[in-house]
Formats: sequence, C-alpha cells, structure tokens
Amino acid sequence: MPENTLILFKTIFDQSPVSTQIFTLDGETFLVNKSWETLWNVKFSELKFYNILKDTQLVESGVMPYIKRGFKGETVTIPATRYAVPYRWLSARMYPIKNENGKIEFIVIQHEDITEVLDAEKEKHTFVSIIESSDDAIISKTLDGIIHSWNKSAESLFGYKAEEIIGKHITTIIPPSLRHEETEIISKLKRGIRIHHYQTVRLGKYKNLIPVSLSISPVKDRNGHIIGASKIARDITKQKNAERALRENEERLRLALDAGKIGVWDWNVEHNTLIWTDNVYLIHGVTKKFKVTVENFIDLIHPEDKQKVGQAIDKTLKKGVKFNIDFRIVTPKKQVRWVTTRAIVLYNDNDQPSRLLGATSDITERKQMEQDKSDFLSMASHELKTPITSMKMFVELLHKSLSDKKLEKPLYLASRIKDQTNKLKELVNNLLDVSRVETGKLQLNKESFDIVTLVQETTEGLQGSMKNKIVIKNQDPIFVLADKYRMYQVLVNLITNASKYSAADQEIIVSIFKKGQTAVVSVQDFGIGISHDNHEKIFDRLYQVADPAEKTFPGLGLGLFISKEIVKRHKGKIWVESKKGEGSTFSFSLPLHKK
Ligand code: ADP
Repeated sequence: MPENTLILFKTIFDQSPVSTQIFTLDGETFLVNKSWETLWNVKFSELKFYNILKDTQLVESGVMPYIKRGFKGETVTIPATRYAVPYRWLSARMYPIKNENGKIEFIVIQHEDITEVLDAEKEKHTFVSIIESSDDAIISKTLDGIIHSWNKSAESLFGYKAEEIIGKHITTIIPPSLRHEETEIISKLKRGIRIHHYQTVRLGKYKNLIPVSLSISPVKDRNGHIIGASKIARDITKQKNAERALRENEERLRLALDAGKIGVWDWNVEHNTLIWTDNVYLIHGVTKKFKVTVENFIDLIHPEDKQKVGQAIDKTLKKGVKFNIDFRIVTPKKQVRWVTTRAIVLYNDNDQPSRLLGATSDITERKQMEQDKSDFLSMASHELKTPITSMKMFVELLHKSLSDKKLEKPLYLASRIKDQTNKLKELVNNLLDVSRVETGKLQLNKESFDIVTLVQETTEGLQGSMKNKIVIKNQDPIFVLADKYRMYQVLVNLITNASKYSAADQEIIVSIFKKGQTAVVSVQDFGIGISHDNHEKIFDRLYQVADPAEKTFPGLGLGLFISKEIVKRHKGKIWVESKKGEGSTFSFSLPLHKK
C-alpha cells in the first residue's frame, strides 16, 4: 500500500456527498466527514461528548434495533431534527467495521437527506387525490390535443372510462360544429393565456350534449415551456335549466302582465326613487321621456283623489295595512282615467319599510260600465216612480168606489192590484235607494226623536198585515239624533224579514235598550236562522242565502244592504246573531242624542 493511501482515503471520505459518521461500540463518535458537518450544520471539533447511544432521537427513531441486530447494512428512513437543522427526512444506512478477528470495532452510519424527494412525492399524492375527488371533470392534454389524464368526474360526466379515452384526441368530446373552438383555445394557450369559465357544449359518449363551463390553463415543463393544457369542465346542466326556468317564468309573467295591461312599479322609500315598467307609462298616458319621480307621479293623480292615495300609502307604510286602492289620474292630455293599484311593503334588515312594490292597471272601462249601470238604475227607478204613484192612487180610488158599491168580486181583484202596486212601489224605492247609496246621494234629515215611540208606531202599522205576533220589550223613551224616515225603513226591513223567514205561530220580539253611549234595537225571530258563514255576506248588495229552503221567499237581497248603509251613515252598527234552524236576532245601534 503506498504511503499516502491514508491521505487518499481521508480525502475521498471527506469529499463524499454522503454524510458519514463512525462510532465506537461505546457509542463515541470516532470520525465524521464534511457532509456530516454540512447536514447537521455543526463543527465536529466543537462537538463534545456526543454519544450515539444517548441520542434519544436516533434511539426512538428505530436506529437502535439495527445496532442491536448486528448492522446488516439495512436502510431506514428516520425523521430527525438536531442542532440547528430544521425538520428533515433522512434515510440512514448502517454497517459494521470488523477487525482481522471478525470482531466489530466500529459502526458506520450514512445519512442521506430525502426530505425533498418525500415532499415532492407527498405533494404529488395530495394533488392526485384532490384531482380524483374533485366534482369537476379534470382533463389534461398535450398541445396536439391528445388526452393525457382523465379523472373520476370526467368519467361520470362524459361517460368514457380513463382507459378508453386516454391517448385519444380531445375532439372526441367536442361536437363537430364546435371544433373550431379547440383551435382558438390552443392558440390562446400557446400564448400562455388562461381561459376562465368559458360556457360551451361538449359531447358525451352516448352523443349526448353536455352544457359545461371550461377553465383551461397551460401546463409547463421544468424550463417553463408550454407542453399541454389542463382543463376543468364543470357540468352546468342544472344551472342552465334553472336559468331557462327563470327566463321562462319571467317571460310568462311579462306575457300575463302585458295581456292584462298591468304595470309594475317599485318605490324605494329609503332613497325615494321610483321605477316603472313600460305599462305604467302607457297607463298614465306619458311617453318614456317622462321623468319618473314620486313628485311627478303625485302630479298625475286627480286632485280630488290625492288625499285618499296619500292616506292609503301612509297606512300601508306605518301600519302594514294592505295597499289596495282605486283612484283617478289625469293624463297630460287632460284625460281622466281610473286605475286600481295593489302593493306590498318590503322591509329592510331593521324591519323598517324600505320598498313598496306595486301593480297598477287601468280600470276606466269597468268604472265607466259601473257608472252606466248605476245611472241606468237611477234613471229607470225615477221614471218608474211617477207612473206607479199615479197607479197606486187610481187603484185606491177604484178600491174605495167598489167597496162603496159592495161589488165583492171586483173589490177582491182591486185589493190584489193594490197589494201588488204597493210591492212594486217598495221595490222601485229600494232600487232608488241603492243607486243613491252608490252615488253617495243618500240624504239624511236628522232630528231628535224617541226611538221607542218610532218602534211602537212602526210595529202597530205592520201588525195589521202580519201573520206573526210582535212583542215590544222596554217602553222607556230613548232619544237619538237620526233621520226618522230612514230609521223607520230599517225597522220595517228587519221586522218584515223576521216575519218572512219564520212560521206564522212564531213570535217576533223587538227590544230597545241603552248600551254605553248608544241605543240598541234588536229584532228577534224564531225562524229558519242563518248559518255563520253567511252572517257578513247577507249585508252585501243582492246577496241572498243560496238554500233550497229559501227559494220560496221573495226578495231581491237589497233590504239589508240599504239598512246597513243607512245605519253606517248614522255612525252606528248593524249585526246579526243567529244559528241555522234556531232563529235570528238582527240588531243595530245608534249614538244617543246628548241634549
Ligand atoms: P231579501 O229581500 O232577499 O230578504 P235582505 O237584504 O233583506 O233581502 O236579506 C238578505 C238575505 O238575508 C235574505 O235573502 C235571507 O237569505 C237572509 N235573511 C235576512 N233576514 C233573515 C231572517 N230574519 N232570518 C233568516 N234569514 C234572513
């Protein structure tokens, strides 16, 4: 062996890129090389009393079993942090050095730092599992368009298994009519441009078209050269369907609004801004040049209806009352139109009303028809009134002269005509009253009188021609300030109804009493009664309970409507308590006259 062999080996040992450490069997470090010092970032000369057997980290990490097993040259991966070195992954290889007698004298440990290799592998693993678990189809391809990878979601979205499609051209999943897209995409990618959420359609295995949103990024090699593309395809079938459903709904709504000529408006109360749809402009007779503001809208409201509209808006915003109102507007061409408007309030996060969302439609035609009808009613009843009054007078005269001459048969006929004429007169009076109520022309001539006396007089008048016995309860005078004739009319209506809807042997009880600041008159019968759900409706115009048992009773359903209007005009109330088959009690109240 040449003399300088030792120096030679020492140099090779020092220059070896593998960190090497030699121990005695007692665990004392005998020799280390440069790589060892670099790995652990420590100078061997500065290192005192290092004993491998006391190095808990090595012991715990599994080096110990190898020492014990006799150093068969196995390799073990150990995590290690020591001295100034942060957490590293090391691969450790150990072997013994024996003397001539075969006895172990030294132990060699060689460490290799494999942290980077492990990290890269871990990263790859995480990356692969992310790709596999993604809900989006993730595909990679070369710049020539050859499919290179294909994840699970791509399998379920397009129907091709990875092994079926990898190696095939990307145009396999592009509909023929959209092939040009691929050229454009590739040209963008070559310039390093990413593509975000590009909505298009792709072709599935079963020639099914799949709406997708594509995000495509270039894939680069180590040197930054673009070598392919990764593509994320998101299935947007549901989104597309939802969009279509929304569009169709909007379309239908628009159609309905157009057909009904309904305009929609949105008033942001907080910012005081107003938005109109086209129909609102049409309804108000203004062009699109009209500046839509709350103030300009108010200008279009008929002067007589401004207050009414203002109050309704106030009530809606302050009390949440439904906004449902008919009012007149005057177009710039001075045309008066009737509109009906409904709106709802939308509230902000603090529960304060923030918007009023409404729909408006033109009801001029309907209002005109209603007006025509009520004009006709009013005119017809007026015209009928005069001949009927004369007829009534002549019939009475005829009746009297026949009666004087004791002509029984003609007398009987004349009295029938008299009855029918009275009924006709009553009917015409009722029709007249209805038209008065509707045009707001029901005049009241109020005076102070004793309502008890009025009840007594009315009852006496009716009793003669009535099958039922009428009983009056309470005779003490109660004064009210009211229109006496109209009150008489209400009493007649209630008492004749009581008789009409009960049997001849059933009594009618009329009670008059004070309740608080009001006088209450109740008319009780023991007749057919009224079911609960009809209690409100019977006070409506022309409403009659639709019951076969009642078909036999004549009437138009006007009496209670007129009575209610009369009582209402007196600031009183009218109501009914009744059960089907158990008779009814109709009552009304009037404010007392405070003298
Ligand atoms: P009508 O001329 O039909 O009697 P009203 O307006 O006076 O018109 O009454 C409306 C309806 O209320 C009647 O058709 C009847 O169905 C019901 N009604 C009114 N009074 C009574 C009563 N005392 N008992 C039972 N039903 C009644």
